Amino acid sequence: MNKIYLYNTLTRQKEEFKPIKPKKLSLYTCGPTVYNYAHIGNLRTYIFEDFLKRTFLYLGYKVKQIENITDVGHLVSDADSGEDKMMKALERENLKPAVSSLMKLADKYTKAFIADTKALNILQPDKYTPATKYIKEMIALIKKIEENGYAYQTDLAVYFDVNKFKDYGLLSGQKLEDKIIAARDGVVEDPDKKHPADFALWFKLAGVNKNHIMHWPSPWGEGFPGWHIECSAMSIKYLSDHFDIHCGGIDHIPVHHTNELAQNRAGTGHQVVNVWSHGEFLTVDSNRMGKSAGNFITLQTLLDKDFNPLAYRYLALQTHYRQKLNFSWDSLTAAQNALYNLYDLFASWKKPISGDYNRYRQEFIKAISDDLNMPKALAVVWNLVKDQALDSGVKKKALLDFDQVLGLGLNKLKKIKIPIKIKKLAENRLDAKNKKDWPLADKLRNEIESAGYLVEDTADGYLLKNKRKS
Ligand code: AMP
Ligand code: ZN
Repeated sequence: MNKIYLYNTLTRQKEEFKPIKPKKLSLYTCGPTVYNYAHIGNLRTYIFEDFLKRTFLYLGYKVKQIENITDVGHLVSDADSGEDKMMKALERENLKPAVSSLMKLADKYTKAFIADTKALNILQPDKYTPATKYIKEMIALIKKIEENGYAYQTDLAVYFDVNKFKDYGLLSGQKLEDKIIAARDGVVEDPDKKHPADFALWFKLAGVNKNHIMHWPSPWGEGFPGWHIECSAMSIKYLSDHFDIHCGGIDHIPVHHTNELAQNRAGTGHQVVNVWSHGEFLTVDSNRMGKSAGNFITLQTLLDKDFNPLAYRYLALQTHYRQKLNFSWDSLTAAQNALYNLYDLFASWKKPISGDYNRYRQEFIKAISDDLNMPKALAVVWNLVKDQALDSGVKKKALLDFDQVLGLGLNKLKKIKIPIKIKKLAENRLDAKNKKDWPLADKLRNEIESAGYLVEDTADGYLLKNKRKS
């Protein structure tokens, strides 16, 4: 079996992946907070996680993937200050302050998120876990953390006591004394917190959260869970208290995942996650794309501009997941042109047949197993496409094989059906060209184009394609 090498944020190095159970991967991917549409920055992270999952599937692993839906508890600041993002969204959308409105809001943005991931050909997890459905598990984990001496209460919340956990900075590499969680302007911090980095496990209905609509009974009074405890509780419930990989975007390293790691250890007494894996940001003009930065673009905006969502997936393939990807419309256009070029060639080839493409397969596997080197895997694809010595049916078979990882939708590509009439026009044009009758050749090309097709000259004649909108 092929060795897979992955960068582990915890050890800060690329390591050979060693599964807990042979040929099995237990995978937790931090899902969306459903207070708004996802932007294409968020979606870059889910595409990276999809490459990861598909790589393992391709290499013969059975994958169990859990992804949360945060529908309560994620406050405006990741460091647990301000209001719940969901509550703010109610105000933004002028909805009446009721549980039913919150649930409707969560449902709307969950559905939009799932639709986006499907449009991007992202494989669905085994289970989406909405936080509000796992309050019991969260309370049980907080109780264990408390029993083990890592929690304390104030009037506003139950906090994790970071001073009690000596390995708090393990994931981020930050020293606790350097970790300054600055109170944001206008955001009231809890004056009774022992350390600024202490984070809420459970919020009480008090202070800024006194009118929070979603609340449940608990040993600490009515309230609602903190964002970080959600992921710890749901990952442990479905993947057990020892699982393989936990993923997210790099912004999760210093707070969300640092806090999860602390909770996991404090609650179970041992390490729960073997590998922490993080994707770099999508940027615009070198700034992180973000909802609060106001520079975000949704997938719908891409569709409105007649882009194929898979052109965005292709763009994501071209940059390694641990490198920043700076978004521009020009780079998206170039990615779409390359993707359509691939589609056209693929569609022009004959039916897939068995044959030897082992050299390419080995190179492809080497690239994906080397910390998901997708740009290299894509280069292997283009080398194969350009290989004149290889039969086109074998190339088709190979591309369908590789596309199980790339996810560019080649298996759904319909063979282009060119009407006889158009083929005839193309034949006549070739004839006119051979006779150097340029005006007639041009006239026939125009006729072909007005009928919705494109004709391109090739070494052995011509290639007919569907004309696309963009
Ligand atoms: P959220 O819905 O805010 O919890 O974010 C969902 C996912 O998107 C998380 O894994 C974040 O780390 C990730 N994310 C947020 N902004 C970006 C960005 N600009 N580029 C890539 N990933 C991002
Ligand atoms: Zn999470």
